[in-house]
Amino acid sequence: MRRVNGFSGQLYRPGDGGYDAERAGHNLAVDHRPAYVVGATGAGDVATAVGRAVAEGLGVGVLATGHGPSVAADARTVLVNTRRMNGVTVDPVARVARVEAGARWRDVLAATTPHGLAPLNGSSPAVGAVGYTLGGGAGLLGRRHGYAADHVRRFELVTATGESVSLGPAAAGDLFWALCGAGQGRFGVVTAMEIDLFPVARLYGGGLFFAADAVGDVARAYAAWTDDVPDGMASSLKLARSPDVPGVPGPLRGRFTAHVRIAWSGRADEGERLVAPLRAVAPRVLDTVGDMPYAEVGTIHAEPTEPVSAHDRGTLLGSLPPRAVETLLALAGPAAGAPFVCELRHFGGAFARPQGPRNAICHREAAFSLFTAVAPDPDPSQDALHEALRPWALGSFTNFLGAGQAATGSYDARTAGRLAALERHHDPEGVFRTRRPLT
Ligand SMILES: Cc1cc2nc3c(=O)[nH]c(=O)nc-3n(C[C@H](O)[C@H](O)[C@H](O)COP(=O)(O)OP(=O)(O)OC[C@H]3O[C@@H](n4cnc5c(N)ncnc54)[C@H](O)[C@@H]3O)c2cc1C
Repeated sequence: MRRVNGFSGQLYRPGDGGYDAERAGHNLAVDHRPAYVVGATGAGDVATAVGRAVAEGLGVGVLATGHGPSVAADARTVLVNTRRMNGVTVDPVARVARVEAGARWRDVLAATTPHGLAPLNGSSPAVGAVGYTLGGGAGLLGRRHGYAADHVRRFELVTATGESVSLGPAAAGDLFWALCGAGQGRFGVVTAMEIDLFPVARLYGGGLFFAADAVGDVARAYAAWTDDVPDGMASSLKLARSPDVPGVPGPLRGRFTAHVRIAWSGRADEGERLVAPLRAVAPRVLDTVGDMPYAEVGTIHAEPTEPVSAHDRGTLLGSLPPRAVETLLALAGPAAGAPFVCELRHFGGAFARPQGPRNAICHREAAFSLFTAVAPDPDPSQDALHEALRPWALGSFTNFLGAGQAATGSYDARTAGRLAALERHHDPEGVFRTRRPLT
């Protein structure tokens, strides 16, 4: 670790104690090996880091939590680690939060939920709020309110010239439009954002776990059930074998289950009525669905928090007819022996209706997101599932892209062309190197 003039934070070069810890994120499959890491403590450090990198002929990459399987920074790149910039301030009257670049959703929830206000966070409180929002952000209130990127009021950004700018929806040019959904590691380093908050204090939520012999019935019933649930009902279906390790609830350990996750943001009695047809499909191995404070939203998916070498792949599906469900069951059901975790998230509702100013998010008509992950090594069976479901595929959602998956499928041709033109205009030298290629 070195203190360097111009930085309030620290600088780590290969061989320095702390270099390895600073370049590591949640997904160990992304192996950042930058020229050096800047542990930034504020927007001033970020601006200094960008200016210095450009002067040295180096590129710039950004690391917040490392949950995204992003492009790894190489020896020609300076990696800006934002994790020390984790401040969150809330104006409960204006229903807005200012969130710094390194804050995780759990930091935001801790600041907003005492006011009975919820952000449009995702399933894991450990994910970075800014990185998530720059990729669109599809959360558990999304069918009611839309993508997180639909509800950004302002971005504070350090550009490729090291300049700090503040951008709202009315800013000249297309940069704000582009940051909302296509901003990860592209166009600049976002140092903070202001986002809308929503008056949601409680959820009727949790998980319904069904044994392997009920998986087929549950998947078929789930697909039919999602056809006409109200927008306040967020849900997903996960098919996987739980590891046989301490920490996993006893009835699930080592067993293949269908896990239906529920997050209903209306009254608990209505939620109970809506969930009843799913409960009626088969006895549950475990049923944790009930009234809960919004602050506990992260317990619904209960995703692992330990770093893992995950190989992900995502596809947005336009529909999920019975033939698609049978394909899914054949390749990811209990008899398939698939090594990957498979998850279908229900989209639609407000995701499909542009909210607020237009932005770069595409494929809004998606009905489901199919996401798979395998660890620690890639496995071709995962690709085979996505290929088999191709007849129903629309493209991909940026936040659920895997390592090595280009952003090509995330944006329609017109949007991709507009983004490429903006890259040429705002970053003609290609300073921001950890962005996914558009083609
Ligand atoms: C367990 C788990 C649950 C998830 N749940 C959801 C979910 O419910 N909904 C959803 O939409 N997504 C979800 N995701 C995906 C997640 O939103 C993306 O992986 C997101 O990119 C993570 O952002 P991060 O900042 O935490 O990660 P990082 O890997 O640190 O960053 C991701 C990308 O964003 C860029 N970036 C980060 N900060 C900045 C910044 N300040 N300025 C410019 N670029 C930046 C990075 O360079 C990188 O390209 C989940 C992921 C995991 C692993």
